[in-house]
Amino acid sequence: MTPDFMKDGLKILIIDDNPHDCVLYKRYLEKVRNLQNSIVHAETGEEGIERYRELRPDCVILDYVLPDMNGLDFLSAAAELSNHKCGFVMITGQGDEEVAVQAMKAGAHDYLVKGNISQQSLYRAIKNAVENVRLRKDLAEKNRELLERNQELADKNEELEKFAYVASHDLKQPLRTLKGHLNLFGKKYEELFDEEGRKFLGIMSESIERMSNLIDDLLKYATLGSEVKEFSCIDSSLALGIAKMNLDAVIRETAAEITNAPLPMVMGDLTLLSQVFQNLIHNAINYRSEAPPRVHVSAEKRGQMVVFSVRDNGIGIAKAHCERIFQAFRRLHSYSEYAGNGLGLATCKKVVQLHGGRIWVASAPGKGSTFYFSLPMGSVQQKSLPEEVAEPVV
Ligand code: ADP
Repeated sequence: MTPDFMKDGLKILIIDDNPHDCVLYKRYLEKVRNLQNSIVHAETGEEGIERYRELRPDCVILDYVLPDMNGLDFLSAAAELSNHKCGFVMITGQGDEEVAVQAMKAGAHDYLVKGNISQQSLYRAIKNAVENVRLRKDLAEKNRELLERNQELADKNEELEKFAYVASHDLKQPLRTLKGHLNLFGKKYEELFDEEGRKFLGIMSESIERMSNLIDDLLKYATLGSEVKEFSCIDSSLALGIAKMNLDAVIRETAAEITNAPLPMVMGDLTLLSQVFQNLIHNAINYRSEAPPRVHVSAEKRGQMVVFSVRDNGIGIAKAHCERIFQAFRRLHSYSEYAGNGLGLATCKKVVQLHGGRIWVASAPGKGSTFYFSLPMGSVQQKSLPEEVAEPVV
């Protein structure tokens, strides 16, 4: 019977100067009914290297003690010779465990002890060695494909970012001209306008202002994170503090109350993290219900990550929209209902993903929303952080 791993035929090189051992291995191997198997024999290390070069075998059965070199020398010579991948089974002497360990470290895939070799143990060792090499080859191939795809994706992203940057940059110029001339126009003909004319002018400049802000935000979104080279261990409560400071006016205006539990150190970028807090808190205030806005920020450990939650008592979001609101320009309301440009959550998502984390929301209309996002834990961790708190059911 032919074992599965030999079905395609194997090229086997036996390097052993002992004719009796060689005859034994050959006899075992020739019992396998597969004419495609080719078995070649060499008596010395030098001859073995020659045969290895010619045959490019699938497996080498290698005696550790050869007349002109030892098995380890042969392994390093074979590795230098070519990058051909081959399985190696080392034959060691009785009680030579130390040699066996060295051989495995030097690249052998299995070993057999001279004098104890049966047909079964020989097959098993060859199978181990050959399959090990095949698996490594497959893995290397898959890794290479993955790297290639990653590179393609990175190139496309870069191209897209450049495109968005150039497009938004170029859009600013005509908009500036429009704004300037509308101002001049308004001033020069001020007296000729009736109330309706002044209203139209007001709408036009407001729209220009909105478009200008949108382009600025788009520009920021396109280039987000490109200047961050590496993350460091940062205090997330500092990031929250910066966000609150930036939102000071709207917090006062709406009598919003922003509270927080102890917040941990995370691996990240302070400016980007404060941007995430700022966008989420701003949304919590913007999409408020009748009640004054109440926002609570907390964090919990989950494995090597920290999951932050930003909970509000606002209008809530229907389940059907909970995923798509993270896409750029996805808005659930008109501008006149709630001001915004649809880039806030997309920006949060981009920042969180840049940190290797995830962002999601649990919400229901009229029940408030809790936004969650995960970031890698910082190297200096606070012990008091709660572990694995369940998400609230809404
Ligand atoms: P913007 O707020 O500028 O519209 P975002 O990307 O920040 O853009 O949000 C996308 C949409 O998600 C919003 O238009 C709003 O409908 C919804 N949303 C975001 N945050 C909240 C929240 N805390 N409560 C209710 N709805 C929200």
